[in-house]
Formats: sequence, C-alpha cells, structure tokens
Amino acid sequence: MKVAVIGGGAAGFFAAIHAKINHPTAQVIIYEKSKKLLAKVKVSGGGRCNVTNGCTEIKELVKAYPRGGKKLKQAFRTFSTPDTMEWFESRGVHLVIQEDNCVFPVSQSSQSVIDCMMIEARTLGIVIEVTRGVKSIKRVGDNLEVGFGDKYRAVLMDKVVVATGGSPKRSGLDWLAALNHKIEDPVPSLFTFNMPSESVKELMGIVVEKTLVSIQGTKLKADGPLLITHWGMSGPAILKLSAFGARLLSEIGYEFKVQVNWVNEVNNEVVLKVLKGIIAEHSNKILANYRPYLLPERLWHYLLKKSELPLKKRWGELGKKGANKLVSLLTNDIYEVKGKTTFKEEFVTCGGVSLESIDFSTMQSKVCPNLYFAGEVMDIDGITGGYNFQSAWTTGFIAGKLG
Ligand SMILES: Cc1cc2nc3c(=O)[nH]c(=O)nc-3n(C[C@H](O)[C@H](O)[C@H](O)COP(=O)(O)OP(=O)(O)OC[C@H]3O[C@@H](n4cnc5c(N)ncnc54)[C@H](O)[C@@H]3O)c2cc1C
Repeated sequence: MKVAVIGGGAAGFFAAIHAKINHPTAQVIIYEKSKKLLAKVKVSGGGRCNVTNGCTEIKELVKAYPRGGKKLKQAFRTFSTPDTMEWFESRGVHLVIQEDNCVFPVSQSSQSVIDCMMIEARTLGIVIEVTRGVKSIKRVGDNLEVGFGDKYRAVLMDKVVVATGGSPKRSGLDWLAALNHKIEDPVPSLFTFNMPSESVKELMGIVVEKTLVSIQGTKLKADGPLLITHWGMSGPAILKLSAFGARLLSEIGYEFKVQVNWVNEVNNEVVLKVLKGIIAEHSNKILANYRPYLLPERLWHYLLKKSELPLKKRWGELGKKGANKLVSLLTNDIYEVKGKTTFKEEFVTCGGVSLESIDFSTMQSKVCPNLYFAGEVMDIDGITGGYNFQSAWTTGFIAGKLG
C-alpha cells in the first residue's frame, strides 16, 4: 500500500507515524511544500510548544473549540489529552502541566517535540520529501493521483492524508473544492483588539485576573484574565472572544464595541452590596485608597476619573448616585474597537474543509474515498491553551488508521 501524507506539520507527522504503526508494510511518504518540517511546532507557544491542555473531561474539552467541538467529542473518545501526554512521555518528552492547565515540555523547548517526531518518523522508515508542494489530487479508479504541477511527475497512491494546515485564502483550498468538498471561507481566529481612540491604553501592562467581556449587540461573551496593551486589549478573555466571534467580527470589519465587566459579576445588586459594605466599614477612607475587588490601583484610579468621581472623595460621601455610577462602570465599561492585531504566540484559521464533508469515525472524506483529513485544514479551531495541537494529534491519530 502506498500512502501519501500532504503536509509536514503536527497533524501530518502524527498521521504518517500512525499510518506506519498501523500498516507496517505500507510505504508512507510525507510531501512538504516548504523547506522546513514542523515549522509551526518550532515557533509555537513562544518557542516552548504548548503541546496540549491538562483538561481531561471531554465534555469540558470540547467547549474550547468554537468550531469543530461537536465532531471532536466523538474523536476525543479515541485519542484525547491524556493519550497525548502518555504518547510524548513514553517517548521521553517529559511534560509539565502549568497552573493554567497548559501543558509544555519540561525542557521548555519546542525542539524536544520536534526531535521526538523526527526520530519516530525516521525509525519507522517514513520517507520525507521537502519542497514538494501538492497542487492537485485526481481520482483514478480506487486510487488517487497526487500532482505537483509541471515540475515533477504525478504519483499514484492507494491512500492520501491531507494535512496542509490553515489556508488564509479560500483559493488555497480550490484543489480540495475541485474534489467536491464543501469549503467554509477562511478567516483569522485568535487575535487581539485595537482601540486607537481609547485612553485605556495608557494602562498598558495591567492584567485583571477575573473579567467578563462581551460584544455589544451580540450574545458573544468570554471570561478570564484581560491584559491592557499599548494598542488595546489582549489576554485569554479577549483571545477567547476573538475566537468565538471570528466569523462575525470579520463580517463587520473588526469595528465594534466591547463591554468589559471588570469584576466578572453579572448581578449588579451583588456589586452594589460590595460597595455598600465598603461605605459602611471604610466611610472615612478616600476612594483612591480603597479598591473594591482588589482591582489594580492604576485601573481603579482610571475608572474613578472616567466616572468623574474625585479621587479624594470619601467612601462615606459617595451617595446612591455615585455608587450606581461605579457599579455601572465596573460591570459594563464600554470601549470602541477598530481593527485587530495578530497574537504572535498563536494564531489559527477559522474555516477550511467543511466537517460535513468528513466522516469523523475515520477522518475519511465523504466525497472522495481513500482521502483523509487531519489538522487545521479542516474547519476546526480552538482557543489558546494547547487545544489546537490536541485537535491535530487527535485527527492525525484517527486518519493514520486509514480505516
Ligand atoms: C505562532 C504560532 C504559535 C502557535 N502555538 C500553539 C501552541 O502553543 N499550542 C497549540 O495548540 N497551537 C498553537 N498554534 C496553532 C498550531 O500551530 C496549529 O493549529 C497546528 O500547527 C496545525 O497543525 P497542522 O499540521 O494542521 O498545520 P501546519 O502546522 O500549518 O502544517 C501544515 C504543513 O503543510 C504544508 N503544506 C501546505 N500546503 C501544502 C501543499 N499543497 N503541499 C505540501 N505541503 C503543504 C505547510 O508548509 C506546513 O508545513 C500556534 C500557531 C502559530 C502560528
């Protein structure tokens, strides 16, 4: 059996390795268009590679995928986060689960992951051809003809795994559409928000641990830490919001209003009660010196100025109107977003080959027998935290069965 794996990234390597493990007599070839193998693994997680996530509960895990979660639920029953950890650990890549549940190699270097994959592929006798971009796939009876344009002769294969990663442009998926696969338009996911007209940028570097952010006029919301940057806002809450809103935000040209709940409390009465408690116990303290919810000092002063309350006013002098003003600002502080910035640590594509075209029990195409998919080329993407690699490992593992 001749098997071609198109793409030498995380999903391609995992699929090729498992194709060879499951079918030892098969000839498995990885075709990689660039000169570099596993290039994204190398730069991932700031060079440390966030291999997977410590979440082991499938029901929870799937919530990290704005697109693909439902289908992955089934796939995770075959290969999930504990399997990934066991896979790497058993091959000498020791892993550590951080407090935020992100999983990294103990070496804190993505090279450990690359070395492991390269050794595994070499030991199994997988052939790797670089600078071999695939341009077309043609059905020839039960076989698939893999074409490289004019430069090289096409090759006939029994099975083909497509693991070409995210394509920023729809035209990059034309060769797969030509085989009758449905394509979901690609748009970026995981980005930070630009706020050119907002003075909050002066607070750059401040992290607020428990926020709830939402997009005005939509049901989109996300919680978690928020980081104020010199161009606007970033941090896990914003990145999560960008992922779940990826398609909508692209449609509205990345111009919208974001509502920030600085204390992650949706019930205003609860916040009012906290403020009333401060008034009762610390009525003599000035507003500037007593911060509710232990908000960062600079942010607290900024919010006081924004609500036009004098910093030197005493809590006891706040009054009902002042307290209500503060509640409103703490729970529904609005900022204007104009544009996005790529999150350098991790970015992914929303869209790709539609999951409607794929049978998730095998990862085989529903419209082209003997063709399989793995990784980001599909309309699957996760939030930041190791989820994107996990989907590459899971789908690569299943595709590698060639079932
Ligand atoms: C900067 C950055 C950091 C990231 N960090 C993390 C992280 O820490 N944790 C995490 O979970 N996710 C991370 N991600 C996301 C993760 O890297 C991707 O989701 C993952 O690499 C997808 O794997 P893949 O194999 O599907 O695609 P890719 O890694 O993109 O690999 C696809 C390969 O196919 C090749 N190719 C494309 N077209 C063809 C063709 N026609 N013929 C032959 N070869 C082709 C490409 O050159 C590429 O080598 C990060 C992404 C970026 C950009």
